[in-house]
Amino acid sequence: ERTVQRIAAGEVVERPASVVKELVENSLDAGASRVAVSVESGGTEGIRVRDDGVGIPADQLEAAVAEHATSKIGDIEDLDRGVGTLGFRGEALYTVGAVSRLTVRSRPPSAEAGAEITVEGGEVGEVRPAGCPAGTTVEVDDLFFNTPAREKFLKRTATEFDHVNTVVTGYALANPDVAVSLEHDGRETFATEGNGDLRSAVLAVYGREVAESMIDVEWTPDGGDNRDEDGTGDDAPVQRVTGLVSHPETARSTRDYLSTYVNGRYVTASALREATLDAYGGQLAPDRYPFAVLFVEVPSGDVDVNVHPRKLEVRFDEESAVRSAVEAAVEEALLDHGL
Ligand code: ADP
Ligand code: MG
Repeated sequence: ERTVQRIAAGEVVERPASVVKELVENSLDAGASRVAVSVESGGTEGIRVRDDGVGIPADQLEAAVAEHATSKIGDIEDLDRGVGTLGFRGEALYTVGAVSRLTVRSRPPSAEAGAEITVEGGEVGEVRPAGCPAGTTVEVDDLFFNTPAREKFLKRTATEFDHVNTVVTGYALANPDVAVSLEHDGRETFATEGNGDLRSAVLAVYGREVAESMIDVEWTPDGGDNRDEDGTGDDAPVQRVTGLVSHPETARSTRDYLSTYVNGRYVTASALREATLDAYGGQLAPDRYPFAVLFVEVPSGDVDVNVHPRKLEVRFDEESAVRSAVEAAVEEALLDHGL
């Protein structure tokens, strides 16, 4: 039984960054206005995510780490729709607890005292009283201590931290109204203010030069030639494209700074990246890529995100229409700046 559990866990918990992703999603689901992530040695030695969200009442701590603890999925259609959080369908904490030493410590704002529970390699401990601020702190130590095969796949600390950084950056930029911070081995990597301003989040994450070079993107179908049949744009394959893209001179030798979101969800759709790059035409130096934070809204039935829980890939029903909308949106923004 426990072996089955561990194998299943190895499938979904690939590396520290997959754990961080689930924990940050839980914090956002809990309505947090602050999410503080700190990791040791790229997350291989320790992961801590602290939030000021609604918390977990002491009498629900055990259920939170249990199998099928909860399910936000009402029916199978929700799976297909794939908007919002899917995670491991109520099993993220359970799964992480199977392959690490997990502590969940929490206090709902209205509760006088907090409580904590620990899971070690799937063994659930007792709920104990714990002093803590309002909100939830989840600590994950010794990830994969009992799954040596998985542990062997971990890369260098720097590589694991890159993955963690990408995940946390992704959520920080998608949620400018939440103060998101990241710390590695006690040093702050970035901290956003959570003031709701995307440009200010970009400043925190990428620095001043990049933030100042950013150009606003704001596109809707009824403003251009992507109208649908009735001319309203209501059924258009892309409803809206917003965000920021950098001046072509502010570019780097990696595509890592092209962040794209579909219906609020962080995705790595090559179609979106390519469309963005196409919009720059010949304005980028060879092998240089811009910074971009682009939010694309499509009708929820037109996108398939249900490839695999840990994958970020999506497929569009109308890929070419999505491509041309994104290209048009970025082109228009650059044109507005005489580019
Ligand atoms: P899911 O998020 O899919 O429900 P998880 O295993 O990630 O499954 O979490 C189980 C449950 O624990 C959640 O549904 C939620 O009730 C509770 N929980 C987990 N993390 C937090 C958090 N940071 N704040 C408040 N509640 C949380
Ligand atoms: Mg979850």
